[in-house]
Amino acid sequence: MLENNNIETTSRIVTVAVIEPVSCGREYLIKAKQMGLRTILLTADMGERKVNERYRSNADFLVKIDTNDDELVIKKCAELKKDIGLDAVVPGFEYYVPLAAKISKALAIPGLDADKVDVLRLKHRMREQLIANGLLAPRFFYTEDEKELTQSLRGFSYPVVVKPVDGSGSMNVVRANNLTEAINAFHTIAKNENIDMEREALHNVLVEEYLDGPELSVEGYVEMGRTYFLSITKKFLSPEPYFVELGHIIEGNFTPEQQLQIKHYTGQVVKALGILLGPFHCELRLTKNGPVLIEIGARLPGGQISELIGYAKDIDIYRIALNCYLGISNPEPDIVLKRYAGIKFLVREGLHKFSTVSGFEEYRAKAWVKELTMYYKAGDHIPDPTSWLGRIGYGIFTADSYEQLYERMEAFDKQVTFH
Ligand code: ADP
Ligand code: CA
Repeated sequence: MLENNNIETTSRIVTVAVIEPVSCGREYLIKAKQMGLRTILLTADMGERKVNERYRSNADFLVKIDTNDDELVIKKCAELKKDIGLDAVVPGFEYYVPLAAKISKALAIPGLDADKVDVLRLKHRMREQLIANGLLAPRFFYTEDEKELTQSLRGFSYPVVVKPVDGSGSMNVVRANNLTEAINAFHTIAKNENIDMEREALHNVLVEEYLDGPELSVEGYVEMGRTYFLSITKKFLSPEPYFVELGHIIEGNFTPEQQLQIKHYTGQVVKALGILLGPFHCELRLTKNGPVLIEIGARLPGGQISELIGYAKDIDIYRIALNCYLGISNPEPDIVLKRYAGIKFLVREGLHKFSTVSGFEEYRAKAWVKELTMYYKAGDHIPDPTSWLGRIGYGIFTADSYEQLYERMEAFDKQVTFH
């Protein structure tokens, strides 16, 4: 079905399709509009794959299609290109990175290498590719079988990290301190029939050596074979065994030497995994042996990090990314830290419902408070904070120094109380 919200047909219009946008992928629709591009929203428009009005109203065309059926979407995009023109296809979420690459190949438009894109999506393939390129990686194995799991774990010392090979958002990623915990984590993943966004479940479970050290992500993009590093984001995580992201700060408090090391390693990862174009979000831990990859996504970061880059550096990563996919070269970016920017997510262990909140709205008046959002309202059920679903809301703040920002984020967390 093709719905026409607002179409012009007179001049040559540049058209971008966004596949199933979630999280910050939805902003593509707004940014593309601001850039004067025509937008096509490709969505199943049902179940977990539904785009809310604020974003979908920005699409010139809404195409309802099963976005988990690659062949169908590729065919549809070929028709769209023929009928109305299609210049770029952008993945709206991590899961649609391979499909966007396949479409770009079929339509001969700029995109990632469709034949190599699996290493960017499947974590066991990502690990293999790192090792094949001589890059530092944790020891790992993957299996679908409990007996094999037990046998392979004999060669490992605990703790280990157990995770799906194709997940996202730290869902079902846990630290296991012994065999029993590892087996339990294995079963949680292996029995998952229908994962996120109605995709078919892969039952492969990845087990890795635990990487010890502070966590960070590198945000950047690739254009004309050159890798640009926009920021190094420091991460704050929940108590283990879960790894829920509780906050981010740009720019992370790493020494100049560490920053060089981080960028050097990230550059190697980008090359090894064949990211030829577009934005990337590279998650690392800084271990005693140096930076080691957790995972890299050939897409924009989640967790409002794109917004933080805007606040900290006055850089519009959405515009940069859209230009990359369109094959339009970006002006040389001015990558200077103007101020520190951070996000603090509110999590309350044991709280499953609230009727009032205090200390939250009061923050709006402050100039250094950039955004305040509550995901849940009074009476809603709040899930356990074992995944991002347990985050109740967030605040985004700026400051002149890392320390001042950190204090503001901590004070906000203390100030907000739920009754
Ligand atoms: P997802 O794609 O679901 O986000 P990740 O592989 O990024 O899964 O893992 C989620 C989080 O779990 C990471 O951000 C990190 O905090 C933690 N983690 C994952 N693998 C390891 C590891 N090998 N050692 C230590 N922590 C890890
Ligand atoms: Ca991750």
